[in-house]
Amino acid sequence: MTREILPSSTMSAFQLASEKKARGETVYNFAAGDPALANHPAILEMTNKKASVGKVPYPPAEGILELREAFTNWINRTCQIDYKPDEAAVTCGGKFALYAILACYLNPGDEVLLIAPYYVTYPAIVTMLEGKSKVIMATPEKGWKISGKDIERHATTKTKFIFLNNASNPTGALYNYEEILDILTTTKKLGITVISDEVYSGLVYSQNEPFISCGRFPEFKENVFIVQSCSKNFAMSGWRVGFLLGDKSKLARIKAFQQQTTSGVSLLSQWGALGALLKADEVNLYVKTAFETRLKLFITTFNSLFSEKLDLPHSALYAFVPLPAMGINPAINSMELADTLIKEGNIATVPGEAFGVPGYLRFACSESEKEIEEGVRQLHKVIKKLY
Ligand code: PLP
Repeated sequence: MTREILPSSTMSAFQLASEKKARGETVYNFAAGDPALANHPAILEMTNKKASVGKVPYPPAEGILELREAFTNWINRTCQIDYKPDEAAVTCGGKFALYAILACYLNPGDEVLLIAPYYVTYPAIVTMLEGKSKVIMATPEKGWKISGKDIERHATTKTKFIFLNNASNPTGALYNYEEILDILTTTKKLGITVISDEVYSGLVYSQNEPFISCGRFPEFKENVFIVQSCSKNFAMSGWRVGFLLGDKSKLARIKAFQQQTTSGVSLLSQWGALGALLKADEVNLYVKTAFETRLKLFITTFNSLFSEKLDLPHSALYAFVPLPAMGINPAINSMELADTLIKEGNIATVPGEAFGVPGYLRFACSESEKEIEEGVRQLHKVIKKLY
């Protein structure tokens, strides 16, 4: 039997944009959430220092202790949680952490709850591992969030996991203390493990809505995996360093899985991540300031050109824009719209379908301020001409 493996739609749009760019065309890249930001010097300094010894052996598959210590120190302090270094594994990006959990614990036919709009990789991984995705639709009216009651309505005896992405790609939604507690209480009652994808925890802009980690509730530790990453919080996407936090006994199988698959993350990358984490507040502030500025610029430029006004998302680096906000008939297929925008206007976006919610386009505000501003102007011009 051949396993079904879907290409990532965010990556496909990104690829088309890259090809056009390589041909010398001006492309406005709103497709991939790949932070276009120079690495903070602390990252490169540590990598160079450690690499100057002249030897890069196999890494420990669970990650070097120094990095797991620096990571847990940072995450415990900033998220008010309490994980020990032996409750953490270094993974090949947050993405491999997501995969590894299901590869180790999902059986064919098991159900996994997804909350739409969801990160595009969730259903792809579930399909790859012969599980069944079951989608809970969130709505803008409820801030793109779901509750324990929604979970109860969708869960069956076969439901094993739920992916909870807080802070959210693509909506920027943030769950508060009570909402997380409600979800954790319900899932524990139903025997469902929460995979809490918190890779945007360091990119939260809302003053009165702090980020709340699922790790804040130690009584639920056995029922929760937390996925973290250096890709967004420290703008280190290409270094491929992520983290998995979880109950020590459950993590043991995942660490063994890493021994037999990736053999761990390259030491060069782990050293770079160590450089970032030893100066975590400084590096994260550098990244967060850049993305808050870019996201604000997208929203203010958009609002100055289009008649419908968008609110600033609470977190992450995306604007999830409904078609009518761009003056486009909601009956128009957003996949076709995204296709037209890249082909006719050199504007790369990702259609809402990729996240399970048609009628929207996602704009990643990861490129330079100049590119973002010019890109929104180009968007307005192309839409005015074609629609
Ligand atoms: N989770 C979410 C919600 C994401 O948006 C991404 C990347 O865009 C990831 C996980 C994976 O990130 P990485 O593998 O680069 O750490």
